Amino acid sequence: MTELTKMSKVAECSVADCAYNESDACHAGAVTIAGPSGQADCVTFIPLSVKGGFGQLTAAVGACQQLECTYNADLECGAPAIQVGVRGSTKADCLTFAEA
Ligand code: SF4
Repeated sequence: MTELTKMSKVAECSVADCAYNESDACHAGAVTIAGPSGQADCVTFIPLSVKGGFGQLTAAVGACQQLECTYNADLECGAPAIQVGVRGSTKADCLTFAEA
């Protein structure tokens, strides 16, 4: 089981129109990753005109529901860190997703 102190960080996020994004960093307390087969969407993404989150805090991966990823264990992320950005037609994706 992944311990809370070892939660993966969102090392970088290039989704500038997300309310939690400031200077390519995610400031949500934690993000949730999910998606249909073959996809790993950041479902915390929210395009708003206001900015939110916790200032200087860098988000962690709070939960990951993408069981097809090689880093997923017990519905948590075991990657050292993840990158979030746009892949294909979706708005915000975990770019670290690697199909097992
Ligand atoms: S790297 Fe894999 S397990 Fe970690 S958040 Fe992305 S899709 Fe989920």
